[in-house]
Amino acid sequence: MISNAEDMMELHWLFDMLQHIDVGLVVLDENYEIKLWNSFMENHSGVSSSIAKERSLFDVFPTINKPWLERKLDNVIALRTPIFVSWEQRPHLFPFKSYRPITSMADNMYQNVALRPISHVDGTVKHVCLVVYDVTDVAINKASLSSANDKLDQLSKIDPLTQLHNRGSLDKILKNTFNTFQVSQKPCSLVMCDIDFFKKINDQYGHPVGDSVLRKVSRLIASNVRSSDFVSRYGGEEFVILLPNIDVDGASFFCEAVRKKIAATKIILPNQAGEVSVTMSFGVSQLSPSDKSVSEWLNRSDAALYQAKDNGRNQYVAVR
Ligand code: GH3
Ligand code: MG
Ligand code: MG
Repeated sequence: MISNAEDMMELHWLFDMLQHIDVGLVVLDENYEIKLWNSFMENHSGVSSSIAKERSLFDVFPTINKPWLERKLDNVIALRTPIFVSWEQRPHLFPFKSYRPITSMADNMYQNVALRPISHVDGTVKHVCLVVYDVTDVAINKASLSSANDKLDQLSKIDPLTQLHNRGSLDKILKNTFNTFQVSQKPCSLVMCDIDFFKKINDQYGHPVGDSVLRKVSRLIASNVRSSDFVSRYGGEEFVILLPNIDVDGASFFCEAVRKKIAATKIILPNQAGEVSVTMSFGVSQLSPSDKSVSEWLNRSDAALYQAKDNGRNQYVAVR
């Protein structure tokens, strides 16, 4: 049989463990007065148990949302059921600093908090226990995972050489544009353009110089569009530019302006190897109500581009 002394010893151990467990424990009465404040709470709040006890929780932490927490505590007592508040709903209940290194992404401790009713020997419920878990590591890991996913998502849409949108993102935006057009019928133009005799640049100066010419041409195009326009690398030395709310005449004007700028630009070669200039040919067409698919529209701009090449390059051809 277990003696009273052993019972007491066990109780003492349990109490000692609860005092020093790495979880916050707070007991509140019906008036939200603090009745128990373990060492986790002392260490993170800087408020000792002797100072916290018998004071209202809301006096000790005036920044806690009083009406919200009162409602939760009253429900726990009235319904005799626990309530769980996750860090994703509310990053923290108690404004504790995070003790992670300064490099950490979190200034404050993220917390999960369980509010549990405590029943007395007579079965009544007049107290609530708050169990506070430090979940800062979980929150930081989740935040860095989602930022890594955002970066990956971004990378999957961008062409690494030119930093322009890639063909996959062009396909998506063209589909959306085509669908919106069926309702709005607002003019929208598509430009396909291609560097003239680009193979010669590679042959004469090497592939790395070819790459830097592609980058320079991309920057030139991108710096001549509006923020609502969409510039993409279609493949190799070919680009597609979507110009919303621009008819074929406006798009032709745009092509001519960009064509002149590119032809007039001297591209400095690395290692003092001199400079080079390139020209581009452009094909442009406007989305038409008779287009049954995106590819019909694309094919018209493509045919216009080939016409521009056939006509001698360094020019635009517009299909009307
Ligand atoms: P055209 O005026 O008819 O367009 O002639 P072109 O020489 O520009 O066209 P062609 O299709 O014969 O050659 C395109 C070249 O572009 C061939 C290919 O090696 C080169 N190219 C494609 N992608 C890249 C790239 O990422 N970097 C470099 N440096 N070259 C590329
Ligand atoms: Mg070419
Ligand atoms: Mg080409």
